[in-house]
Amino acid sequence: MGLKIYINGKFYSKEDAKVSVFDHGLLYGDGVFEGIRTYDGLIFKCKEHIDRLYQSAHAIMLDIPMSKENMTEAVKKTLRENRMKDSYIRLVVTRGYGDLGLDPRKCGKPTVIVITDKCKLYPQELYEKGLEIVTISTQRNIHESVNPQIKSLNYLNNILAKVEAINAGVEEAVMLNSEGYVAECTGDNIFMIKDGVIYTPPIHSGVLRGITRGAVIDIAHLKEIPIKEEVLTRYDLFNSDEMFLTGSAAEIIPVVRMDRRKIGDGKPGKMTAKLISEFHKLTKVDGVRF
Ligand code: PMP
Repeated sequence: MGLKIYINGKFYSKEDAKVSVFDHGLLYGDGVFEGIRTYDGLIFKCKEHIDRLYQSAHAIMLDIPMSKENMTEAVKKTLRENRMKDSYIRLVVTRGYGDLGLDPRKCGKPTVIVITDKCKLYPQELYEKGLEIVTISTQRNIHESVNPQIKSLNYLNNILAKVEAINAGVEEAVMLNSEGYVAECTGDNIFMIKDGVIYTPPIHSGVLRGITRGAVIDIAHLKEIPIKEEVLTRYDLFNSDEMFLTGSAAEIIPVVRMDRRKIGDGKPGKMTAKLISEFHKLTKVDGVRF
């Protein structure tokens, strides 16, 4: 049985899962999305992802034509249809079919798409040895233009940064905000540990309110590990003891080199390892069964 993709209430094979060339998701990147993980039959942090999808949509004045409950049902149905217990879900809502102008009022009905796929993690080796990253020159979008909290289909800001990372021969890039403070990576939030305290940039530094970021903050509180949301500079990262990135696809991945500087002793840190193990425990319980 091939992959089945949900589009507006119907299932299509991979070959037949198509949207119109007049869809403003394609023409303008006008839409929102979520990347969600399932672990052994549980949709991890399901409510948080659905809530964030609706908040992104609300921010761009896109009325999703179904309730959150029905959206959750559509995701569950797609997972059952594909018999995937461990997967990556891409939930997409575009502005829909319109004309060639920008005007979203010309778009009749949003397009709702649910795709399930195999998990897309970094190679296992990088979890064991740690990732090398670089700072790049493309600044993170500013709140006043495209707020980084909106998980929109317009990812060119991040793609430009990713291209710079690839050109530098590494997988990920640190993006700074317009003031030069650390924001986040191209598809992950960033954390550092110094003297037993975990730090991550606050949302106002220009970051997506990552759901994995939130899970790490919750774990830290639960385990009574001090954690601070603080404005960070590259200097702070260079001089940290440990560093790691978080994201639904990446989970928690250690960083051992940044801009050719060794982070800590250049090996994945002990506290990071503890957080990874606590995170894996959480993925077994914090979700909605499908
Ligand atoms: N920042 C950006 C720019 C992202 O696209 C993502 C999601 N891939 C994240 C951070 C991590 O967010 P989450 O933990 O909710 O996946």
